[in-house]
Amino acid sequence: MKTVTDFFGSKVFDDRVMKSALSAKVYKSLKKTIDEGEDLDISVANAVAAAMKEWAVQKGATHYTHWFQPLTGITAEKHDSFITPSPDGGVIMEFSGKELIKGEPDASSFPSGGLRATFEARGYTAWDPTSYAFIKGKTLCIPTAFCSYGGEALDKKTPLLRSMEALNKQAMRIIRLFGDDTVKCVRTSVGPEQEYFLIDRKMYDKRPDLVFTGRTLFGAKPPKGQEMDDHYFGVIKPRVAAYMEDLNEELWKLGVLAKTEHNEVAPAQHELAPIYTTTNIATDHNQITMEIMQKVAARHGLVCLLHEKPFAGVNGSGKHNNWSLATDTGVNLLSPGKTPYENAQFLLFLCAVIKAVDDYQDLLRISVATAGNDHRLGANEAPPAVVSIFLGDELNAIMEAIENGTPYNAAGKTKMKLGVNVLPEFTRDTTDRNRTSPFAFTGNKFEFRMLGSSNSIACANIMLNAAVAESLKIYADRLENAEDFETTLHEMIRKTIKDHKRIIFNGNGYDDAWIEEATKKRGLLNYRTTADCLPHLLDKKNVEMLTSHKVFSEAELKSRYEITLDNYCKTVMIEANTMVDMARCEIAPAVEAYVKELARTASLKKAVSEEMACGYECRLVKKLSLLTERIFMAADELEKAIVEVGQCSEVTGESEAIRDILLAKMNELRVPCDEAETLTAKKYWPFPTYGELLFGVR
Ligand code: ADP
Ligand code: MG
Repeated sequence: MKTVTDFFGSKVFDDRVMKSALSAKVYKSLKKTIDEGEDLDISVANAVAAAMKEWAVQKGATHYTHWFQPLTGITAEKHDSFITPSPDGGVIMEFSGKELIKGEPDASSFPSGGLRATFEARGYTAWDPTSYAFIKGKTLCIPTAFCSYGGEALDKKTPLLRSMEALNKQAMRIIRLFGDDTVKCVRTSVGPEQEYFLIDRKMYDKRPDLVFTGRTLFGAKPPKGQEMDDHYFGVIKPRVAAYMEDLNEELWKLGVLAKTEHNEVAPAQHELAPIYTTTNIATDHNQITMEIMQKVAARHGLVCLLHEKPFAGVNGSGKHNNWSLATDTGVNLLSPGKTPYENAQFLLFLCAVIKAVDDYQDLLRISVATAGNDHRLGANEAPPAVVSIFLGDELNAIMEAIENGTPYNAAGKTKMKLGVNVLPEFTRDTTDRNRTSPFAFTGNKFEFRMLGSSNSIACANIMLNAAVAESLKIYADRLENAEDFETTLHEMIRKTIKDHKRIIFNGNGYDDAWIEEATKKRGLLNYRTTADCLPHLLDKKNVEMLTSHKVFSEAELKSRYEITLDNYCKTVMIEANTMVDMARCEIAPAVEAYVKELARTASLKKAVSEEMACGYECRLVKKLSLLTERIFMAADELEKAIVEVGQCSEVTGESEAIRDILLAKMNELRVPCDEAETLTAKKYWPFPTYGELLFGVR
């Protein structure tokens, strides 16, 4: 039997393959490109392309594609076969360095937010050698960045790579200030925990809402939901276990370090977490994971729902972005050290994150903004839309001691005098089980918990990296010019705590009192919806910060603003249209059919005896008739709102109209439909119920 170590990464052109397939010279120069970003020589590219093709063809590949992440949020690929005609009428399999390095997909149908007029449809893809090529089906996939001809990024990878570089640059300045000359670079590592639902394919097919929008737009509460808490970490059902086994195997072959899997809080909800890796690769891997999750589900007669809120009244799905900074020498900069000096460096990086999260709360909120995620944030199942940081008791006590210049005194520990040279040694507090914080320190990393399950993790990490780079830049500017390094360092740490402690909150984030305190007393931002937060992407301070670190150009930011809002509007409009359709053409007719049967029964009974005339059937006929009336009226109202929203000429106004009018009308249509479901005989109801969907996979 083949073991995991035999097949792990078998579909990846990874370091092992490169070492054995490339000459020592080519390998060395490719490594230099990968590790240090050196330009790639065309002769090296040719040699790599030839080796890649040989390897891929041997594994059964016939095509190659430049695999990229356009702003639609999913991945895109256009396949070209390796075949080239040979003079004798046959074909040979060819792949050149030029084809490896650069591609020119017809990009006119990818969103560009005005960056590229459609007549200039050409964009180009450029190989990202830092992420390994892999085989999917019969296609060699080459991870690439996607840009317009003017050089503007049309994808998520380009700004992500830029943000990593910005952070590296500023973090290296700090590392040097602390006297380390051996470290060559600082990278961020990410481990994203991915939640998802699994439901039965046959039931899915019967629900237009799931098919068109990925979530249920109707559905009465089932008799049993998640109230028994019996699903979280529960025994995995055989069909789900078979799915997970298959999924792991596929992911392992693709080099994805899938590590943990378990049932989540809601019935039919599960989670998969990989072992963390460099941000760029973690992002590629998370996209691959989401894709493979759906593909494997289809093989098992299942559908994997990645929507943030597939079922009302049941926990939705998120994604926890575990994030930290590490040097190429293997030091985690967010891990408390052993010596006071190491701890001073740790505290400085910690403060950089605290300052970044406070200064750029809006960017973090924006980075997770989608129509789907608006249903989760602040709904007592996910962190609120208010961004805050959880530090844990011990770190919090240390922070307070530094701020007040008082001795740090944890229970059972001796008092210590504070000063940079004698910052206390403290143990890692890994006891955090505060699940309500949007941004929690968990011992040696931060866990950003606001991401929606379908989000690309690129956006969150771009903003996080850029914001932290900005804090570090401010620190480095001061420290490099400081007369007395240690005094300045100490003062800076203290000032950061003083200025930004409002963002630190160790209590229950689901508590209404917290939102009150956060917004009224602390002045923290509370952007409830995508329409509320997105315009702030273009606030002066944000544009200045992001452009100064060369993460985005101003034009790129404007285009992202347009695209994100446009996507929000289209998503909700599709939902609204689906609702009108389902209500008018399926729900109301089903209720009417049942009413007809009830009425017939009533009249038959009446024929038997006058006394039985006005029984239960009559009452139900009345009730259901009133409901159908409400359904038709609400559907008309919603349709009117759809027309109104459709008349908006630009996305900002459209998103506001959706927030202020359309969402309420959608809700008004849902209420009578769900009520009718609870009163209508099962055999008439046109869709599988919540109970069937949530408990149907065994
Ligand atoms: P929990 O559910 O308790 O938060 P999990 O094991 O489900 O823990 O997920 C933790 C995630 O954090 C994993 O993906 C893990 O690889 C990742 N992780 C651990 N250490 C780091 C680190 N230094 N940097 C980034 N991610 C990390
Ligand atoms: Mg976690």
